[in-house]
Amino acid sequence: MEDCIFCKIVNKDIPSNIIYEDDKIMAFEDVNKMAPVHILVIPKDHIPSINAIDEGNKDIIAHISVNISKLAQKLGIYDTGYRVVINCGKDGGQTVEHLHYHILGKRALTWPPG
Ligand code: AMP
Repeated sequence: MEDCIFCKIVNKDIPSNIIYEDDKIMAFEDVNKMAPVHILVIPKDHIPSINAIDEGNKDIIAHISVNISKLAQKLGIYDTGYRVVINCGKDGGQTVEHLHYHILGKRALTWPPG
């Protein structure tokens, strides 16, 4: 997707602080951190939102899932805990239309969200 900011990050057309990368996914720091640890995990393929997850791309989603706790270990939040957030659509607060998992930690997070 030419005009997708996260596709540009995947293609290294714009810089990011990459925490992890393999052939299917990338994890990088959010530019607007809401916690001392705040990273985004994305599929390299352009999947617009959680609404677009289906049988055809479920392997990528499983791959993200198995990597989340590994990333938590790497980031030092595995034992203290963390939150994984996927925003979807306007009411969900999604601002970038490329599926992304926020991983937030290193502080106590309030619940419920506003
Ligand atoms: P959401 O509101 O769930 O769509 O989250 C989008 C997130 O992307 C926000 O937390 C932004 O701070 C973050 N973001 C936007 N542009 C960039 C960028 N170039 N590099 C890193 N994070 C970004």
